[in-house]
Amino acid sequence: MEKQYYHLSGSGYPSHRRHHRRRRRRSRFPLPLRITLILLILLALVLMIGKLRRGKSADSLPSAHGEETLGEGNPQSSDGTPESSIPDETTPSQPSEEQLLSEAELKFAQYDYDAAIALVNSNPELAAKEAGASLIRRCEEIKPTLVRQDISQITHVFFHTLIIDTAKAFDNDSRQNGYNDVMTTKSEFEKMMLEMYNRGYVLVRIHDIAHEIDDPEQGGKKMVEGDILLPEGKKAFVLSQDDVNYYEYMDGDGFAKDITIGADGKPTTEMVTEDGSVVTGSFDMVPILNDFLKEHPDFSYRGAKGIIAVTGYNGVFGYRTDPSYEGTNPNIEADRQKVRDVAQCLRDDGWELASHSWGHRNYGKISMEELREDNEKWQERVGSLIGGTDILIYPFGADIADWHPYKADNERFQYLWGSGFRYFCNVDSSPYFVQMGKDFLRMGRRNLDGYRMWQDMTVKNRTADLFNASDIFDSARPTPVPGYTGG
Ligand SMILES: [Zn+2]
Repeated sequence: MEKQYYHLSGSGYPSHRRHHRRRRRRSRFPLPLRITLILLILLALVLMIGKLRRGKSADSLPSAHGEETLGEGNPQSSDGTPESSIPDETTPSQPSEEQLLSEAELKFAQYDYDAAIALVNSNPELAAKEAGASLIRRCEEIKPTLVRQDISQITHVFFHTLIIDTAKAFDNDSRQNGYNDVMTTKSEFEKMMLEMYNRGYVLVRIHDIAHEIDDPEQGGKKMVEGDILLPEGKKAFVLSQDDVNYYEYMDGDGFAKDITIGADGKPTTEMVTEDGSVVTGSFDMVPILNDFLKEHPDFSYRGAKGIIAVTGYNGVFGYRTDPSYEGTNPNIEADRQKVRDVAQCLRDDGWELASHSWGHRNYGKISMEELREDNEKWQERVGSLIGGTDILIYPFGADIADWHPYKADNERFQYLWGSGFRYFCNVDSSPYFVQMGKDFLRMGRRNLDGYRMWQDMTVKNRTADLFNASDIFDSARPTPVPGYTGG
């Protein structure tokens, strides 16, 4: 007997401020005086706006004459004619040559050579200088040497919430074995990323591997391979993180408490310290990877980050937003708004968001009716806040079918596809499992956790293509690592 407890706007974004056009009244002054007054006011406005524009960067410039426009970014009045002789303040001011060059260098580092060239050429003075011209030359030199990635050989690695304080996670309580099995410590994660970087791995989006296009022959849409172009020796990989919910049971065990938005406008995390105060910093994968990318921007293909997969029963990103918290979480509405804002912040920063089911259910085993109910809950209680998704990360890695391509008569596939999912991820320990169907992409993911590393070191090494597990394994872990207890 689940009820809709709350009303949500579908988009999750605050509605734009509406501006109403101010009508000019007839003046009591005689005509010549009126013209002089109007001219003086216009002059004052032009001067004021000029001053405002000089003080602001291009991307943060709001509509300076908001009262005279009907919507942001619309410099004209409702009938399409220019409102007055005031210059168009919505035209962004030009970025400096230095800014342009550093943006273009970042595009170059992240393998987007055409965008780098276009940026330099957008300023003819920069293009004429040696700094600009040599960047364009470097782009033109490397472009013909790029190698198109074979999408069938792209590996996908995944993590859970990273352990920040190993003393708290491994303190002999009942949760210790679970953490030891399925979690990865901060130092292990950093060592893994560095070693993968050194071996030429480059992060791509799952949407870079394949995407939907219109299918004029059969109607509807179809999946097509993406063109991922990287220099010789580089290898694409996908990264994801499951259960980014900061579950209640993890409280006090050495993990972050939530994802928030940092002072720089980028996603970061909060953690509770010994004395109970809350500090902001790099306490989980999102900010830790971002820190790494600041030092190594060429670890990301065109700004790609990872996939963040969330359930719903304990709320999202550490905020207790589920309707079951009505009455116990007094900040529930503010927290829901926070989740919307954090989700948008993550997307703007290059992260992709995914469903990991609402109740961490086994979609391969539960009844069709339960599956439907669970997905509806995720859509209503989570998707409505974070903006929906076409990526499904199966809990426990439990797929809805064996390794053969999904068949159209598979009821579960039909239902999930109808609900908007196109990318389906299970767990598979082989280096890559990529299956592109006519209308879906399916990927196996490798758990890079304590159990995997311990197995690599003692039984069978399955991650030799990524790193040496013994160089990574955190000495703070109790051994032996007991055995897989879930995903
Ligand atoms: Zn999970």
